[in-house]
Amino acid sequence: MAHTPSTASLDHGALFIVSAPSGAGKTSLVKALLERVDRIGVSVSHTTRAMRPGEADGVNYHFVDDAAFEAMIARGEFFEHARVFDRYYGTSHRAVSEKRDNGEDVILEIDWQGARQTRAVCPDAISIFILPPSREALESRLQGRGQDDDEIIARRMRDAVSEMSHYDEFDYVVINDDFDEALRDFESIIRAERVRRERIGKAQAALLEALVTS
Ligand code: 5GP
Repeated sequence: MAHTPSTASLDHGALFIVSAPSGAGKTSLVKALLERVDRIGVSVSHTTRAMRPGEADGVNYHFVDDAAFEAMIARGEFFEHARVFDRYYGTSHRAVSEKRDNGEDVILEIDWQGARQTRAVCPDAISIFILPPSREALESRLQGRGQDDDEIIARRMRDAVSEMSHYDEFDYVVINDDFDEALRDFESIIRAERVRRERIGKAQAALLEALVTS
């Protein structure tokens, strides 16, 4: 069944979009953030790419085939979806609304195309782009354990540069040089958003009224 999009974000938890080229450390930063901040969760996307070692269905992604993904598109079940590296990736309405409707904030770890679609349906979404400290650092992170050939690494680098060219569409940019510092920046963005007056006005309406009523 299709779910109604959660667009009135000030009545719900906040929506954070986090994008990065692969190799910038996005997944590690998000994981560390979840250990430090409560009432926030990550939306589990659907994808048609193959499961990697160490991943689990329903945890990292909902792994589905093309037919199942296309059927979900046809039923309008996606909040946003895109082709990334020649595979489908998408965030279902359900993945977002279940958490937000309970007042939890939600992080979408998605690419720039999904970020654009999300801003269009949810202009209050806060978007954060994570960058590596240099091209050299990114290249060495993309070389991984040194088992991949040069052509594969060159392709990963081209993909990363193409993703990074969209950093200027985002509200915040976090440079992941020193991990702990990047984590503090990331956490500050989340916490600052939570205490915006418009958001506090909804979440603490009774308190604010009691404090200012003479
Ligand atoms: P990976 O396959 O390495 O997990 O992710 C590849 C790329 O797909 C990353 O840039 C990631 O942010 C993006 N991605 C993952 N899930 C989604 C999604 O639901 N929607 C969109 N648009 N991109 C996604």
